[in-house]
Amino acid sequence: MYAARTGAPEVFMIVYDKLYYDGAWQSPSGTDTIDVVSSATEETVARVPRGTEEDVQRAVRAACRAFAGAWSDTSPSERAAWLEKLASAMKTRVPAIAESIAHEVGTALGYATKVQVEFPISMIGMNARFIREARLEEELGNSVVIKEPIGVVGCITPWNYPLHQVICKVAPALAAGCTLVLKPAELAPLSAFMLADAAHEIGLPAGVLNIISGPGRVVGEALITHPDVDMVSFTGSLPAGRRIASVAGDGIKKVCLELGGKSAFVVLDDAPLEKAVPAGVNHCMQNSGQTCSAWTRMLVPRAHHDAAVELARGQLAKLVLGDPFDAGTRLGPLASAGQRDSVLGYIDQGRKEGATLVAGGGRPAHLPRGFFVEPTIFANVDNRMSVAQEEIFGPVLVVVPYDSEDEAVRLANDSIYGLAGGVWAGTPERAMQVARRMRTGQVDINGGRFNVLAPFGGYKKSGIGREIGPLALDEFFQLKSIQR
Ligand code: NAD
Repeated sequence: MYAARTGAPEVFMIVYDKLYYDGAWQSPSGTDTIDVVSSATEETVARVPRGTEEDVQRAVRAACRAFAGAWSDTSPSERAAWLEKLASAMKTRVPAIAESIAHEVGTALGYATKVQVEFPISMIGMNARFIREARLEEELGNSVVIKEPIGVVGCITPWNYPLHQVICKVAPALAAGCTLVLKPAELAPLSAFMLADAAHEIGLPAGVLNIISGPGRVVGEALITHPDVDMVSFTGSLPAGRRIASVAGDGIKKVCLELGGKSAFVVLDDAPLEKAVPAGVNHCMQNSGQTCSAWTRMLVPRAHHDAAVELARGQLAKLVLGDPFDAGTRLGPLASAGQRDSVLGYIDQGRKEGATLVAGGGRPAHLPRGFFVEPTIFANVDNRMSVAQEEIFGPVLVVVPYDSEDEAVRLANDSIYGLAGGVWAGTPERAMQVARRMRTGQVDINGGRFNVLAPFGGYKKSGIGREIGPLALDEFFQLKSIQR
């Protein structure tokens, strides 16, 4: 293991000075590094190599050798056994990973432990089950249709749920028989290095899992343009997704894109407001609003608007903003100074466009250190305002009044995005009817819980393809038909 770690959270310092490919920790081809900054202390807490195009070339060569030579020929049960070993090795790392994500992203440590770390680790084991149970051959007339691994996958991930997004790609890709090169986010690369550490510890065959940290414009571009990368699996912003889709299109590569969202939560006129509104606020604010599927638009009947706003304000007051390492903290800082300034810019824009600011709206005076933004609510929002149309990716909820159920559906769908959403109605039947009319990849009705078996992904500009659950495996297969 090439990490050195010293000190308590305040002076946490972890240094990875090597990249991981071809089954070994390898010296980077360049000498530049990336500093990882704590969102709570604004201090550098870790350092990783700034990879280069040359590093990507070497890693892709290793992934190609591993794919053709062995991994694609392993049986599903062999791959399942590797995934189970990997999950076990990751379990011993839970506290270290949670601590690193609390620094990188600002996620409160308790939430980080459960949602950012334990949950994705459990998904590794689930993918072992999915591939064991998968039906990889089917007879159709005089054909045998076979699912085969697509090849070498380039995986590019964002910073907001850094391990989760890595596992959403790595676990099904490996289960399907693909090999991969992963480029984690610059702001939050540490959990990917800890994954490499775990893979090395269990002796995962060389070249199956390769990790090159570095900038999107260098390492990411080298991956997506590489002729031997068969598929790009990307999670991130719409502009980067657009670029990746066009480059991959040029190379006739398969892409899976998990992009942004501006999801609507429709509260119907017969919904119990005192249950629905707090649930909506909590959903919007999870991970301080740095969640692609967050319900950032709350659509409420005009007659209930003021009551809903009061309930929302009351719920927001319960969500303690503070140091992610304090036990009582629910909302931590944002991940970077850039993210904080971007969110504050949107809040200013909301004020200028005439939305009514009812809570928050700035930097908290009692937290001078760290990239904090007060959780914020705008009321009386017109759905055409930029705060209702653009992905803010911070703790900002907009409340939009509507006059009829048809108008609520129209407003919910009036977005370039279609990633998630919610409906709360007096009966599940009515909620279901509205959910069916929403052009979005996931809808939770009347408090329906997150389901790890359900595919996750977007309509419209929220993306192409699906992750999570057994159906996500299909993204990593080719279909071959043999006639007899
Ligand atoms: P981003 O697009 O800036 O970066 C994502 C990753 O892409 C990073 O690793 C970055 O280095 C890389 N990258 C950037 N430009 C690239 C290029 N030209 N070629 C190759 N790689 C490139 O996004 P971000 O700020 O890290 O993450 C926030 C965004 O991610 C939000 O829009 C959010 O909604 C989205 N997101 C979506 C999902 C989902 O499942 N749909 C989940 C989480 C986050």
